[in-house]
Amino acid sequence: MSKFWSSMVKRTVPYIPGEQIDQKDILKLNTNENPYPPSPKVTDAIKTELARGINLYPSPTVEQLRDAIASYNQLAKENVFVGNGSDEVLAFSFMAFFESGKAIRFPTVTYSFYPVYCKLFDIPYEEVPVQRDFSLQVEGFFQSEGGVIFPNPNAPTGVFLSLDDVASIVEQNSEQVVIIDEAYVDFATESAVSLIQTYPNLLVVQTTSKSRSLAGLRIGYALGQPELIEGLTRIKDSFNSYTIDRLAIAGAEASFRDKSYFKETTQKILQTRSWVSDELKQLGFHVIPSQANFIFVTHYKESATYLYQQFKKIGVLVRHFNKHPINNYLRITIGSDQDMKLFLTKAAQVLQ
Ligand SMILES: *Cc1c(COP(=O)(O)O)cnc(C)c1O
Repeated sequence: MSKFWSSMVKRTVPYIPGEQIDQKDILKLNTNENPYPPSPKVTDAIKTELARGINLYPSPTVEQLRDAIASYNQLAKENVFVGNGSDEVLAFSFMAFFESGKAIRFPTVTYSFYPVYCKLFDIPYEEVPVQRDFSLQVEGFFQSEGGVIFPNPNAPTGVFLSLDDVASIVEQNSEQVVIIDEAYVDFATESAVSLIQTYPNLLVVQTTSKSRSLAGLRIGYALGQPELIEGLTRIKDSFNSYTIDRLAIAGAEASFRDKSYFKETTQKILQTRSWVSDELKQLGFHVIPSQANFIFVTHYKESATYLYQQFKKIGVLVRHFNKHPINNYLRITIGSDQDMKLFLTKAAQVLQ
């Protein structure tokens, strides 16, 4: 604590991201990055933009990229807000749609950034318990005071909530904003984007960090009806006019235009997820059915803390959250087939 800190800084409890270790021989399966490089068209577009020069400011309204995202989702540019990673989009959304004195709701097991934003912006919250199989308790989100947010598929479990259930939560909160954080939706069966035209209180947030192999580029976006998008734009323009740089705009636009490459790498991860899940069951793991690019597992004999430490010793990084009721689980990112073959060998070694 410093006497120079504002009350806002004093009350913050910052988010702790997964370890980023710059070491060549480590098998990094802890932050849900994509093992495949982005489309070659993305790197070409960035090089072209760089050759054009970066002495001029980028577009403050990110027109071209919003067009590409809108067209990919069969929406209009007015339905799209772009931010510097979806974490920024989420932070702006908390500021734009949630407020002090009105408790919002999210699940007890969820993305750990939500309580961080609540503390930062002084927004009260209620946690809705998840069920024993980690599925969401739908009615628990009905008639909230200040709004609702949850990831779908949920993090860090990978459990997916059906679109019908999402729609009923949105319907039962018609005076508040419901934010669906779809960071992993490209690995799942369906997106809530199809509900946007029906519900003015629905905001869908997505990212290029996971399914589009662009975690290093920092592009996230929100999709919703124009009045929600305008709310976000007002926050952004009261904060930083240029949150997205020229190279990121060019690269992300190219990614949305190259549909076949995206489809291919996503499909690959789904195949890998399926066989890795089967193999881990053979090794005595209980694997929660996942619709994301990671799996959430627990072992019938060895504790998650022990396994996390043993894995780390032999150069395998997975994610362990030391928090009830998930302290005996590990979250493992799906890498390439080669990564996962190595992982399974190491898992067998640890369990010997
Ligand atoms: C990874 C992740 C994000 C943040 O993604 P960025 O776009 O890289 O900031 C947001 N929500 C959830 C649930 C995530 O897992």
